Amino acid sequence: CPDTCRVPRVPRMLYPKAHVLQPPRVDVLLMTPWFAPIIWDGTYDSAILDAQFRNTTIGLTVFAIKKYVVFLKLFLETAEKYFMVGHRVIYYILTDRPADVPQIPLQEGRRVVILKVRNYTRWQDVVLHRMEMISNFSQQRFLHEVDYLVSADVDMKFSDHVGVEILSSLFGTLHPGFYASDRQRFTYERRPLSQAYIPEDEGDFYYAAALYGGSVAEVYRLATACHQATLIDKANGIEAVWHEESHLNKYLLYHKPTKVLSPEYVWDERMLRKPPYLRRLRYVAVPKNHAQIRSR
Ligand code: UDP
Ligand code: MN
Repeated sequence: CPDTCRVPRVPRMLYPKAHVLQPPRVDVLLMTPWFAPIIWDGTYDSAILDAQFRNTTIGLTVFAIKKYVVFLKLFLETAEKYFMVGHRVIYYILTDRPADVPQIPLQEGRRVVILKVRNYTRWQDVVLHRMEMISNFSQQRFLHEVDYLVSADVDMKFSDHVGVEILSSLFGTLHPGFYASDRQRFTYERRPLSQAYIPEDEGDFYYAAALYGGSVAEVYRLATACHQATLIDKANGIEAVWHEESHLNKYLLYHKPTKVLSPEYVWDERMLRKPPYLRRLRYVAVPKNHAQIRSR
């Protein structure tokens, strides 16, 4: 447990001092009611964090099933530029088409591991079974190979710094479409028959399934629980409205994340106009034709 049980040691460093009476941001919420930091530009010092997280290995799991392999090149190229630069990274590419994984030149300390997985006919099954596969590979490999796991959608690109400021035991990202909404408007699963059901009077945030993570042990717990929930749903003849995102939201309601990423970390420039308090767009959607890319 690198960040919860042990206090990280840092060397002598020179950096500007924080001011107790001058909060770095007054335009956005910086802390959840359970005291998890919400990560916005201007609130952290990368030099301190990089020192705290030196000797950390980060696994980035990304699924590229069927036609989604076309997104890998831009995803990996931009990750090399912006994702955990200066740290050890293993890209775990889960795909049914290993031969179509592009060869990208990697910086030192970074490598690609291709994990061959099965595909499913329905795209809903592809996204739902991500939880099962992350759960299985966590036990098989990730627990022994990396400290943290970051699970990311492939139909996205990195466009600014995404570093160790996101790492914590368990983190989720505020969905760009709902961060300012009342909880009644969150697109949680609302049918009590589903394991993902959340009543109207509950809910902290609506989290995006496109980016979440944590220590391998915590991501393993999350993925296993979400997979179990989808199995029970299936036995009951119900599928959660937003698939694994619905189950993720249910899990994070009752297992409070220890960090929350602002919408800087998942954005869609075609769907949303950038508000002034969003100073950086770090990981953004790549346009796609849903019907075309999801067909077999
Ligand atoms: N995915 C995939 N192949 C598919 C469908 C989905 O590899 O046929 C993976 C891929 O990593 C994708 C993620 O599942 O980014 C989530 O699906 P998608 O991005 O289509 O969902 P959206 O972001 O549009 O809700
Ligand atoms: Mn996506």
